[in-house]
Order: sequence, then structure tokens, then C-alpha cells
Amino acid sequence: TTILGIETSCDETAAAIVRRHGNGRAEILANMVRSQFDEHKAFGGVVPEIAARSHVQYMDHIVAQALEQAGLGFGDLDAIAATAGPGLIGGVLVGLTSAKAMAYAHDLPLLAINHLEGHALTPRLTDGLEFPYLLLLVSGGHSQFVLVKGVGDYERWGTTIDDALGEAFDKMAKMLDLGMPGGPQVEQWAKKGDPTRFDFPKPLLKEKRLDFSFSGLKTAVRLAAEKAAPLSDQDVADICASFQATILKILDNRCRLALARFQTEFPDLPPRLVVAGGVAANRAIGQLLQDLAVEYGAELVVPPIQLCTDNGAMIAWAGIERFNLGAQDGPDFQARPRWPLDETDMALAAKGD
Ligand code: ATP
Ligand code: FE
Ligand code: MG
Repeated sequence: TTILGIETSCDETAAAIVRRHGNGRAEILANMVRSQFDEHKAFGGVVPEIAARSHVQYMDHIVAQALEQAGLGFGDLDAIAATAGPGLIGGVLVGLTSAKAMAYAHDLPLLAINHLEGHALTPRLTDGLEFPYLLLLVSGGHSQFVLVKGVGDYERWGTTIDDALGEAFDKMAKMLDLGMPGGPQVEQWAKKGDPTRFDFPKPLLKEKRLDFSFSGLKTAVRLAAEKAAPLSDQDVADICASFQATILKILDNRCRLALARFQTEFPDLPPRLVVAGGVAANRAIGQLLQDLAVEYGAELVVPPIQLCTDNGAMIAWAGIERFNLGAQDGPDFQARPRWPLDETDMALAAKGD
């Protein structure tokens, strides 16, 4: 099975071609990503209207590049998959509508993919991981634990009640004027700082439900920064280090709870833990997860970073998994700005027909 996957839900215009061989092995034949970073930089965040226009401008080009890199034509494809939500609706519409047009023009089946399902199934693309497994999705827009039981079979165990983790890193960097994207900057500064200098709050840690909250932390950082102003480089480093240390404690606590729950629900399996989302690029967080995996005897999958952040390969792969189970969507499938992962199932996919 060979599928073209299109992703336009945020500020990446992406197209990829993925093939699943008869023996089940997956191969990424092309994975083109054009980041709109420079177009949004001056605004300090993604501007939806600019994002949508830029997707329109580059879509054809990115798809042509993907086909060229794979050395394939539309005639070699079995289907076309595109993100149909959740995300910035203008961008999603561009990708989904383009996919519908290409599918119609080349007489190919269409698969409307939930962006989060793309992230959730990535460890099967990279490592052929078996169900069930626990997904920690930490990106600019999401922070959640999802139990992945099968294709279209997801149980959300917890989510953020305010900011996403990547968003917390970004806001923090903005506050300290460290430049965008914030995560990598904060991580670099944290290396030179004292993680014990500031004691920031860790909301929800006493709660047994698996939710996150990061907005109180953000406020505490702002107050600390105002109090210590004018900030020396050492102050900035100490704030970043203390912030990251707090994040690590929160993640450590939440992951332990989630792993314990996995062990309770699947006593006969070693826990399987998977990370996705741009925050997975953080080395300190990666180390924490490695340590937890050793302690819990868990199988840990951290896909390569270009497959952790938004990309077309994950959408193509989710398309392959669905297509091989007989799913297909019709040209009337509507883009969904909001689309929780646990509302994605094969039944809903079939309804698109
Ligand atoms: P979503 O995929 O949820 O729609 P998104 O496209 O913004 O959101 P990604 O592209 O997956 O998310 O990841 C980007 C986020 O990852 C940014 O918030 C960025 O700050 C964060 N990030 C990247 N590198 C690091 C790092 N080293 N440490 C912490 N955070 C990081
Ligand atoms: Fe994403
Ligand atoms: Mg992004």
C-alpha cells in the first residue's frame, strides 16, 4: 500500500509518501516539510490567515516535490490521506480540499485523518509497535495521555486544563525575550542555571486524575522575573533551569501515575510508553522518560524528532492503517477545527462515505 499524506493543520505545509510492504515493514519514500516559521516570526505566534494563504501558495509545490523524491506519479498511489482536523480551520481546509481535488482528479480513495491519530500511530510507522500502548503527546497545542488500543480506538486518560506544555515553554521564552521557538532556547539557558534557585508551583500533583496545568507556573515565572529585574544572564539561566526542573517533576509524577494505571489495566504486559510532539526534542525530558522506562521495565519509543513534530508521513501512515482496515472517506467529509482523539473511530470514518 502506498499513500500520499498531507498535513496543513498548523504552520507546516507537509506532504509525504509512505509505503507498507507485504511483510508489514513501513518505508518513508518522501517526507517534505515546509515550515512557515519566518512568515509568523514577526508576530510572535502563528497568524491563521497568513498560515492558510501560505499553505495555498506551497501545496502544489510540496506535493510535486514529494512525488519527485519518491520517484512516483499519482498512478502509483493507492490513496490520498489528509489532515481533516483538529487545527487552524483555514489551513486544514486548504489541505483537505486539495486532497479531495487530487483524489477526484486521479480517481483515488480519500482518507480524512485526525491529526492526533497521526501522532498516536507514529511509533507503529517507526518501530512497528504493537497495541496497546500509552502515548504522551506534548506539543505546542497539546499535552495529553492517550491509551492507544487500536486504530480508531483511543482512550484519553488526561489532558491539560489550560496551556499545552510546548506553549508554556514558548510563553516563558517570550517573557524572557529569548526568541522563538521557545522550547530549545529555554533548554539551552537551563543548562547554565541553578534549578534550585526558584521554587515554582506544581499544580494538580496531588490529584489522581491524569491532567496537567501549566498556567499557574507561567504566572509564577513572570512574578519571579519581575521581582529579580533587571535580569542578569545568570538570573535568566536560573529561571529557565528552575522552570525546566519543575516541568520534569510534574512529568515524572504524571508519568508514574499513568504507568501504574497501565500496569493495573494490563498486568500481563510490560508497559509501553511512546512520546510525540515537539517537546519530545527536549533532552532532559527524554532522559527522564528513559529513567522511568528502566524503573518500570517499560518499552519506550521516542520517534526521531522530525516524526515527532508535524509532518506528512504520520498522516500517510494513519491513512495506510485505516485504508488497510477498509476505511475510506467521501468528498463531503467536513474539516473539523475541534476533533478529540477519542471521538475518532472507524465508525465515524465510515460515516464520511
Ligand atoms: P500541535 O502539533 O499540537 O498542533 P505544534 O505544531 O505547535 O502543535 P510541534 O510542532 O509538535 O507542535 O512542537 C512545537 C513545540 O515544541 C513548541 O511549543 C516548542 O517550543 C516545543 N519544543 C521544541 N523543542 C523543544 C525543546 N527542546 N524543549 C521543550 N520544548 C520544545
Ligand atoms: Fe501536531
Ligand atoms: Mg508546528
